[in-house]
Amino acid sequence: MTISELLKTINACIELAKDFKRIDPKLSRIILIEAGPRILPSFSKKMSGHATRDLEKLGVEVWVNKRVTCVAETGVVLGEERILASTVIWAAGIAASGINNSFNLERNLTNRIIVESDLSLKGFPEFFVAGDQARVSDKNGNPLPGLAPVAQQQGQFIAETIKREIKGKSRKPFQ
Ligand SMILES: Cc1cc2nc3c(=O)[nH]c(=O)nc-3n(C[C@H](O)[C@H](O)[C@H](O)COP(=O)(O)OP(=O)(O)OC[C@H]3O[C@@H](n4cnc5c(N)ncnc54)[C@H](O)[C@@H]3O)c2cc1C
Repeated sequence: MTISELLKTINACIELAKDFKRIDPKLSRIILIEAGPRILPSFSKKMSGHATRDLEKLGVEVWVNKRVTCVAETGVVLGEERILASTVIWAAGIAASGINNSFNLERNLTNRIIVESDLSLKGFPEFFVAGDQARVSDKNGNPLPGLAPVAQQQGQFIAETIKREIKGKSRKPFQ
């Protein structure tokens, strides 16, 4: 779920709140838990700050540097901490394929392989990794999101790289 979708969901909940007659929806508590130091890590710090403030204005508590270790029927567990909750929305994304574990290569928290700037494997220039399996940064050092356009552009880039190499041309970094 993207932050804009999350905002829409929260707004919808706030709208729905008017329909409850027997309970006071203001007593409900919405906590957004993020493992990293800020939400929207693939966007700028400014965007992340705006989103945090917008969520807080809606009454959402934004917790950063907290990792969910277990989701149970009664709520969520963050290491030693337990939060009782009857509704849990998981929006933490997906991890890269387990096949990445079989390579003795550096990976990030979501198991994506950290590739060279030309998308090849460190020490193995004849192997490339693209799309959701690759951890690639933009020019500001932020990770590229796991989206179809990124995967498609990387696929095209790798094909171009192979064509260039056949012609004896040097490699370029992926942008
Ligand atoms: C629910 C959901 C919604 C999404 N919505 C959007 C969206 O709206 N817009 C957007 O841009 N992106 C969206 N994405 C992300 C997008 O689908 C991915 O970023 C994109 O498909 C990545 O392309 P890929 O080629 O790296 O991987 P994939 O498209 O996942 O292709 C990998 C393929 O490899 C196969 N495979 C896996 N393991 C092996 C193996 N060991 N041997 C052989 N084959 C294997 C898989 O079966 C799969 O067919 C969404 C993803 C999900 C999960």
